[in-house]
Amino acid sequence: MTKNNPILYIIIPCYNEERVLPITCGMFLEKLNGLIGAGKISEDSRILFVNDGSKDGTWDIICRLAGEDSHYIGIAQSRNRGHQNAVLAGLMEAKDKCDITISIDCDGQDDLNAMDAMVDAYLNGCEIVYGVRSRRDTDTFFKRFTAESFYKLLNWMGAEVVFNHADYRLISSRALVELANFREVNIFLRGMVPLVGFKSTSVYYERHERLAGESHYPLRKMLALAFDGITSLSLKPIRMITALGLVIAVLSFIGVIWAVVSSLVGNTVAGWASTVCIVCLMGGIQLLCLGVIGEYIGKIYLETKARPRYIISERTWEQRED
Ligand code: UDP
Ligand code: MG
Repeated sequence: MTKNNPILYIIIPCYNEERVLPITCGMFLEKLNGLIGAGKISEDSRILFVNDGSKDGTWDIICRLAGEDSHYIGIAQSRNRGHQNAVLAGLMEAKDKCDITISIDCDGQDDLNAMDAMVDAYLNGCEIVYGVRSRRDTDTFFKRFTAESFYKLLNWMGAEVVFNHADYRLISSRALVELANFREVNIFLRGMVPLVGFKSTSVYYERHERLAGESHYPLRKMLALAFDGITSLSLKPIRMITALGLVIAVLSFIGVIWAVVSSLVGNTVAGWASTVCIVCLMGGIQLLCLGVIGEYIGKIYLETKARPRYIISERTWEQRED
């Protein structure tokens, strides 16, 4: 249910960003004031910084900003928990205080002007708006190659994500209430948000270079994130083991027949056929059993997440508040 003049919270995770925050904070405020001035969002909108256990002066900067302008507010995590958890903490903090949230990195890489189109899409009835990078010219070849392979690998492994969309997106508080029911601990927001459903769309923007400081996403962290994404969204790896087990089991049973036929034809050493039969039979049966057990473990895994089984988006007796 789209609200006119919604309260917007911009959620910004920050980890050791004392070099870039003083540069970008003014840009965020300018954007927020611009949107307020244009009458698109409420004066009660805020910029919510989430300090992810920074070891430098980031929190001091956030506290100083909060004192300077009431549009800046901040929360701090007790220790570093990583980007995904920082974003989630901000979203959950904001969900009861606002109508819409936009999560964005604090390094100025994502184009703030895309926020106008995001808010417009919300006002036109979308609950989730994905910011998608149209070009990556400013990224190094290595970063571009690894990042694009990351999305392809995820999709191939059955974790459906929006291609070239990172965590720059608008989510309405209504969708956030549903997201809060996804109680898993290993979170991969890019894969979870599409599972929430609701009317959604994409907004395209160009990605800039980091304004200062260094990336906290080296290849190592990106691989860890991809691994988290695959294992928390997809049972495909388990299914691949089951399929492998099945293939090898079939081969083993062919092996058994081959050993019996060879010994009947009589060109084998005594004891060879029985040994081969036992090895093949046991190998085949074991792998097949492992596959079946894997299927059950997969089911248990999905059950333990206790994800919502359905989410209602519309009811005829609830009117839109336009
Ligand atoms: N970040 C965070 N916790 C971390 C690592 C990163 O909150 O452990 C934040 C960081 O401050 C930035 C965003 O996540 O706002 C994206 O990180 P970065 O720009 O380093 O990643 P890249 O854009 O290079 O992929
Ligand atoms: Mg960045």
